[in-house]
Amino acid sequence: MSDLTQYEVDGYLPTIGIECHVQLKTKTKLFSGSGNDAREAPPNTLISHIDLGMPGALPVLNEKAVEYATRAALAFNTEPQKYSHFERKHYFYPDSPNGYQITQLEKPIVVGGTVAITVDGVKHVIQLNRVQLEADAGKSTHPAGADYTLVDLNRAGTPLLEIVSEADMHSAEQAKAYAHELYLLMRYADVSDANLYYGNMRFDVNVSVSKDHKQLGIRTETKNLNSFKAVLGAAEYEIERQIEVLEKGGRIDQETRGWDEAKQKTVSQRGKEDAHDYRYFPEPDIPPVVLDDEYIAAIRKTMPPMPDVLRGKLEGLNLDDSVIETLVEEMPAGRFMFKVLETAKPDEAKRIANWLASDVQALIGEEKVSWDDAVLEVEAFLQLSKLVETSQISSTSAKAILFVIVEHGGGPVVIAKERDLLQVSDEGEIEKIVQQVIKANPQAAADVRRGEMKAIGFLVGQVMKESKGKANPGMAQQLIRKQIKS
Ligand code: MN
Repeated sequence: MSDLTQYEVDGYLPTIGIECHVQLKTKTKLFSGSGNDAREAPPNTLISHIDLGMPGALPVLNEKAVEYATRAALAFNTEPQKYSHFERKHYFYPDSPNGYQITQLEKPIVVGGTVAITVDGVKHVIQLNRVQLEADAGKSTHPAGADYTLVDLNRAGTPLLEIVSEADMHSAEQAKAYAHELYLLMRYADVSDANLYYGNMRFDVNVSVSKDHKQLGIRTETKNLNSFKAVLGAAEYEIERQIEVLEKGGRIDQETRGWDEAKQKTVSQRGKEDAHDYRYFPEPDIPPVVLDDEYIAAIRKTMPPMPDVLRGKLEGLNLDDSVIETLVEEMPAGRFMFKVLETAKPDEAKRIANWLASDVQALIGEEKVSWDDAVLEVEAFLQLSKLVETSQISSTSAKAILFVIVEHGGGPVVIAKERDLLQVSDEGEIEKIVQQVIKANPQAAADVRRGEMKAIGFLVGQVMKESKGKANPGMAQQLIRKQIKS
C-alpha cells in the first residue's frame, strides 16, 4: 500500500475517477451506414432513417467498432469479453431522436484493464472498471440571445468507447496525466484520431474529498471537459471548493457540474440521476456480441507497440526526458523511431532522436511541414547520420539536408553533392590550404607554438574560410599542429 497521506490537502484526501468518451474512427456510424466524419460536414447531412430513429428502422452493429473495442482492450493490457450485449438507456433530449441511447450496462465489451501513468517520476497504475461501446448523441447549439435551439444530428450514432476508471487517482496532476495517457493509447492503438479540438475525446471528472482514507466523500462529476488543461483545472478547483464547503460546516451535494473555461471554475448544473431514472432494458434489435480466441489472437497480431514500449526503448539511449516525451507525443515520430531502432546502432539512433525532437520539431513549429506529411525514411536518416559521423558534412550542413529530406524526401549524399556541402577530407588539399593560412598568419602560428590554444582555433577558422566551409575541421586542426611542429 502506498502512503496516501502524501496526497492530502489540508488534511483531506482527494479521490478522483474519470469517465472518458472516445469517438472511434470508423468510416460509418455504430448502427447505420451514414458517414462518421462530421468535422466539416454541413449540419444534418450525415443521417439516415436509423440515426433519426424512424419507426421500424433496424440498427446493424458496425463490425469495425467491435474490432476497435478489442484493440482498446489490448492497449489496456486486457482482453475483450467473449460475450457482451447492449441496453437502451432512456432520456429525452432534442439531440437524441430515439428517446434512448444504445449503450452497454450489464455486460460491457471490456471489464478491467490498466493505464500506467508517471507523475513527477513516480509510476502509478490506474485500474479501469469497464469500457463500453455506445452511440453518441447529436449536438445542440443555443445561439446567444435566440429563443430557439439548433440541433445537428451528424454526430448521432457515432461509435463511442466509454472508458470508466476506478477512483484510483488522488491529485489533479494524476488526473491530467491519466487523460493524456488515454489520448496516447487511443492514437497508438489506431482506434481514434483522438482530436480534442473536434471533441473526439471528452472527459467527465469525478472528485470527492475525505478526511477518512477508508471512506469516500460525496462526489461531484464535472462533465464534458475537452482538454487536459481543463481536466487539471476542474480537478484542482473541485478539490479546493469541496474542502472549503466542508471546512465551513457545509455538505457536498452529489451533482453534475460544468466547467467554465473563461472563469476557470466549475458550476452546478443539475442533481445526479440514478440508474433507475434511465429505465434501462435490453436492446431487442441487436444480438449479443460473441468473440472467440481466434478473433482476439488475430487482432493482437496487428497491434502496434504502445507508448510505454517506446519510452522503454528510448530510455535505453540516454536521451533527455523532454526528447523522449516529444517523440512519444508526436506519434509519426514515435513510430518512425521504432523502425530506426530496428537497424540503427545506439549512437545513430540517439543522433536521429535528437534531430527529430529538436530540429524537425522546430521545422514543424514553423509550419513548413506537419508530422503527418513529413517524409521519414530510415535509410535516408541513417545515411545522413553516417555523413556526420565520418565528418563528410558539417553539423550545419546536416541540418540543411535534414530539412530537405523531411520536406521533400531524397538521398542525403545526392543532396550534399548537389548543394556542394561535402567537406574536403582530402589531406593533400587541406594541407595546401593550411600552408597558405600559416604563411599568411605568422603571429598566430607563433602563438600556437607557444602553446596558446586560442590561436589554433583562429587558424582553423581561417582554413574553414579559405575552403568556404568545406574543410573537415578536425583534420584541419591536426594538420595545423603537424605543420607548426615540423
Ligand atoms: Mn456514456
